[in-house]
Amino acid sequence: MFLWKLSMVVFALLLAPMLCADPQPAAAVGLPASAAQAAPAFDVKAATDAYLATVPLDKKARSDAYFEGGYWLQLWDFLIGVVIAIFMLQSRLSVRMRDWAARISSWWGIRILIYFVQFLLFTTVVQFPMAIYEGYIREHKYGLATQTFGPWMRDQLVGLGVGAVLGGVAVVGLYWIVGRLGKNWWIWGAAAGVVFQAIVILIAPVYIAPLFNTFHKLQDPKIKDPILSMARANGIPATDVYEVDASKQSTRVSAYVSGFLGSERIVLNDNLLNRCSPEEIQSVMGHEMGHYVLHHIYKDLLFDTVLFFIGFAFLNWGMHWGLARWGERWGAREITDVAALPLAVLLLSIFFFVLTPITNSWTRTQEYEADIFGLNAARQPDGEALVDLKLGDYRKLDPTPMEEILFYDHPSGRTRITAAMRWKAENMAVLPPGTNLGGPR
Ligand SMILES: [Zn+2]
Repeated sequence: MFLWKLSMVVFALLLAPMLCADPQPAAAVGLPASAAQAAPAFDVKAATDAYLATVPLDKKARSDAYFEGGYWLQLWDFLIGVVIAIFMLQSRLSVRMRDWAARISSWWGIRILIYFVQFLLFTTVVQFPMAIYEGYIREHKYGLATQTFGPWMRDQLVGLGVGAVLGGVAVVGLYWIVGRLGKNWWIWGAAAGVVFQAIVILIAPVYIAPLFNTFHKLQDPKIKDPILSMARANGIPATDVYEVDASKQSTRVSAYVSGFLGSERIVLNDNLLNRCSPEEIQSVMGHEMGHYVLHHIYKDLLFDTVLFFIGFAFLNWGMHWGLARWGERWGAREITDVAALPLAVLLLSIFFFVLTPITNSWTRTQEYEADIFGLNAARQPDGEALVDLKLGDYRKLDPTPMEEILFYDHPSGRTRITAAMRWKAENMAVLPPGTNLGGPR
């Protein structure tokens, strides 16, 4: 009796793999019988390695150097910001700015605004050499920039103007809340911060982005038709796909989704449209549609809400702690005193700097979701792999796992190509006729 049972178990174990390899399940869902046999022949890791190996070594070294240099730039930018804030407080420059603003206007709101404009101009001027190196010299050195200095400078000034308007509104609003709402100001401050950010996201595609670039609806029917078909298939209004003249500033291949509550749009940049095959463009479009359909902008706002409340609680604590310790020396003892603004900026920049790996991981996870959505929507795993290699112009392709967690706001080339090749291995039978069933060509 026991032996019989045992033999049944052994039989079942032996049979199980055979059942799995049986083409019947594939045939049952209308797939060709070859589906199950084809899958094991495709080695995901080998295909991924083969794609990565197509990048010439000197090009890879250059992209690695560019991206790794970015790690240090993040640290330097943070440290420069810290030094500037401490200098403004310790030298009492901040107090002098406040007093000067008070001499010009007796109205409270205007005084805050005048202080903020001085603050913005001073920090921008001090950080300007670094901005030139980072945004102009270095981008040219790595062949990523297309602008001459004049137009670049024009963009910087427009950016400064936008920062002055938006920052001015935010700072006046916050000091109003701090002055009126007392001890619990930080709760209302965080709530107002979230609403303010939502408004900026809402208006950015229509009022801010066009200050830098020209947008128009996608034109070329060869590219447009499959993309709009894919958009319709995924429930995206076809009017929401735009092309932007990003080649004005850069050689980077890119695309994004912006806006919300009706201002949403998918924007493909002209570098992508000019440098990529229709298969590659479709894979990018599938990815962007993922952001759209998965409501990543709304989820971002929710995540930011959590961050804002924690950040403002930290800000409230830090302001009281810092002003109690050094307020006398700085000439700014009250949290309501705008001369303490550099401390607030310092505290928030520490908060967001420390949280970088977490915010990066949040974004990277969404990007990975969009990748998976895109593979299913566009069904272009090789297009995806080829675009991932092009993104390797400015993003290190093959980092260590820890590097990816700490520094990457998008998955690395290796992670993305692996996902594409894994998708391909499992979908061999349903790929359209004529698809390359091997590795890179
Ligand atoms: Zn994305």
